[in-house]
Amino acid sequence: MTVPDPLPGWLTAAGRVTVLTGAGISTDSGIPDFRGPRGVWTRDPEAEKLSTLRYYVADPDVRRRAWRERRRHAAWTAEPNPGHAALVDLEREGRLRALLTQNIDGLHQRAGSDPGRVLELHGTVHEVECLSCADRTAMQEALARVDAGEPDPPCLRCGGILKSATISFGQALDTAVLEAAATAAADCDVFLAVGTSLTVHPAAGLTDVAAHSGARVVVVNAEPTPYDGIADLVVREPISTALPRLLGR
Ligand code: NAD
Repeated sequence: MTVPDPLPGWLTAAGRVTVLTGAGISTDSGIPDFRGPRGVWTRDPEAEKLSTLRYYVADPDVRRRAWRERRRHAAWTAEPNPGHAALVDLEREGRLRALLTQNIDGLHQRAGSDPGRVLELHGTVHEVECLSCADRTAMQEALARVDAGEPDPPCLRCGGILKSATISFGQALDTAVLEAAATAAADCDVFLAVGTSLTVHPAAGLTDVAAHSGARVVVVNAEPTPYDGIADLVVREPISTALPRLLGR
């Protein structure tokens, strides 16, 4: 449950590591997770509605609240932490097969991970998308409209409902991104799941894909996950100190 010393040989020798990150890697950057002990939904179960498409589409109050929450989202000022940096080092060593993230905060790219190798399974909060015409624009432009007095700014092209370009409950993942993620999960010697409760599918199921393909599975998460039983190594220490050590920094 703590980072083993010495590290297992199969980990230090791994040349193709596929990493799946979740909200837990960004809590040390000041962005709360959803389901951890101090998570947004743990403290306020009603907040889950803001991430559920049918409530968002049906209820202007939900949208107005969602825009207020976006306005003060921690992602605008958060800085990457040593956990993100350890994954940049892994990539520079040529050992990263792919970086799959459920996070929408863009901190992997800010830390220096190659944007072309980061697969954002749940989209990004840095853009907005029209639910009618799929037009994409910058989040900061939409937030400027909120500041200027539009509590629920409509699409400037077609008048449709705008939402952050993230995957809400009830929305399908991008098929191409999911397929690329599954390929990377099936093609690695170590699958490292970091800071995710591994309860949101299909992202969590990538762990099964990796395990069935013969990869060693490492889970780094403060709380138990449904995949601990099949993991070759489970680490419960805080990510920003555990991950650099696990990756030999
Ligand atoms: P989750 O909230 O379900 O689980 C996060 C897990 O991380 C928890 O089990 C918690 O115990 C653990 N954790 C938190 N901080 C930790 C730390 N410092 N060290 C070790 N463990 C720590 O997150 P999820 O599985 O990613 O699923 C939530 C969904 O919400 C995802 O779809 C994600 O896109 C989204 N989300 C993203 C962000 C972000 O982009 N930073 C933030 C909140 C939610």
